[in-house]
Amino acid sequence: MKKTSLDRILQSQGFGSRKGCRDLIEEGEVKVNGELVTKWKTEFDPEGLQFTVFDEEWEYREKVYLVLNKPSGYECSRKPTHHPAVLTLFPENMEWRDVQPVGRLDHDTTGMLLLSDDGAFIYAQSSPKRHQPKTYLATTAEPVTDKLVADLLAGVKLIDEDEPIAAVSAVKRGDHQIEIVLEQGKYHQVKRMLAAAGNHCAALSRTAIGNLQLADLDLEEGEWRFLTEAELQILN
Ligand code: URA
Repeated sequence: MKKTSLDRILQSQGFGSRKGCRDLIEEGEVKVNGELVTKWKTEFDPEGLQFTVFDEEWEYREKVYLVLNKPSGYECSRKPTHHPAVLTLFPENMEWRDVQPVGRLDHDTTGMLLLSDDGAFIYAQSSPKRHQPKTYLATTAEPVTDKLVADLLAGVKLIDEDEPIAAVSAVKRGDHQIEIVLEQGKYHQVKRMLAAAGNHCAALSRTAIGNLQLADLDLEEGEWRFLTEAELQILN
């Protein structure tokens, strides 16, 4: 890539305004490839650049693709109303980079949430035309019956929807547990489908997006990391 001054590189990575980035450099808070750099005009090839800010290690990334094991009690909205935003679980520079959740989970839903600052990726993943399957594990208030499974597979009528909506797959996983795969991403879809089928969702977790499984990510609730190239391939 084209050589770029360090203040611009830091700004592109979300470390604040250009002035703020210049101050960080001049105050001796930034090292590049292990060496302290105090002149903001110093130029580097951004590609693969390793740097630290306040001793925290970073690598230059044109776009970021993140996965969070979302805990309960966080809102996906950037302007949350009742609970903290999921972005508060990330370093501050991710908010500066304009990282957004890919679709939304309810505040009390846990599990896999993707986030990115790549608009094309967000659109490709969340577009209804894409039909990216999402897998949920729901804990139900009432026992999971064969009829519940059959109704979800046949399709249930939701208020505001003209046609019944069916799960791609519905599998009983326990007396009060059902795994549901959906291709749409409608508001409160799992909860509304369970209610329409005469049950009630007591707890909900998203366990997979496409073929990417939460269980393979090795993330505790509340933890996040960058997706690997291989994981991005699985999603695409
Ligand atoms: N369906 C819901 O009801 N809630 C979610 O968070 C996701 C899917």
